[in-house]
Amino acid sequence: MYSTEIFEQLYTKLGKARFGGKVATYIPELGCVDPNHFGVSLTTIKGESFHYGDHDVRFSIQSVAKVFALVMAEGCGAELRKRVGVEPSGGSFNSLIQLELHKGIPRNPMLNAGALVVCDVLCQQLNSPKEELLEFVRRISGSPAIGFNERVAQSELKTGFRNEALVQFMRSFGNINTKLAELMDFYCHLCSIEMSTAELAQSFNFLANRGINPLTGKPELKPTTARRINAIMQTCGFYDEAGEFAFRVGLPGKSGVGGGIAAVHPGEYSIAVWSPRLGDKWNSYAGMRFLESWTSYAEDSIF
Ligand code: GLN
Repeated sequence: MYSTEIFEQLYTKLGKARFGGKVATYIPELGCVDPNHFGVSLTTIKGESFHYGDHDVRFSIQSVAKVFALVMAEGCGAELRKRVGVEPSGGSFNSLIQLELHKGIPRNPMLNAGALVVCDVLCQQLNSPKEELLEFVRRISGSPAIGFNERVAQSELKTGFRNEALVQFMRSFGNINTKLAELMDFYCHLCSIEMSTAELAQSFNFLANRGINPLTGKPELKPTTARRINAIMQTCGFYDEAGEFAFRVGLPGKSGVGGGIAAVHPGEYSIAVWSPRLGDKWNSYAGMRFLESWTSYAEDSIF
């Protein structure tokens, strides 16, 4: 059922949809990418991998990395539940509106505000947050060469006024402890992590495998926590398009403004796609449609 040929056919069948949407430029460096890239990788929990297209080209995974931060913060045993909710927001990823209503408690950890609280926890609890983050991502992906894209990180640091506003607003409610510059540095580096779809699919594999890293045979998370993180991805991973993604694709997943999407079919596989042009809710336009055609073809929605 899984094969490179099927991926190629499904991608070709997308027709004009392959070119729908626009590359994000609000982080100037993201605008430098060739919009015509497309890559997809699927890795089963038994260790088989299938790829098509630019599966070995690294790109900026942006908000997909919020899942890594959340997994690490769960590992810290932090009392996250009191500081970040688990409800879909129905709003955009960088919205400020709900924070006022909810007294500085973000609706969920997939929003920028929620991820910034998760990053605050990591900055407070870890000795070297950036190094430990890379160590974690290298372990779960099996790729020791993964790193930050310094140009992307610096580009976002120079222009991330909205994220700074979110941080300071939450600080006014007592929900942020780390100094602004330190927190922004960590958050922007998190978002700047560069991976290929092959590496991304491998790195999400433990979430399809009850928290056990198939590469090491060791747990990255308890099975209950892995299930909960999948639930958060399902309900919140695509912001105000989370319902649409569940409706069209039917897998827990997470998108990023670099055009990447990682998704899991618990008990079966993880899959990553990359296509830099985004739809109007800032999720990869062709990526989402490719995954829709994949789960339709494979009759593989978790629903
Ligand atoms: N670094 C981006 C930001 O904070 C991440 C957003 C995203 O990928 N949706 O704006």
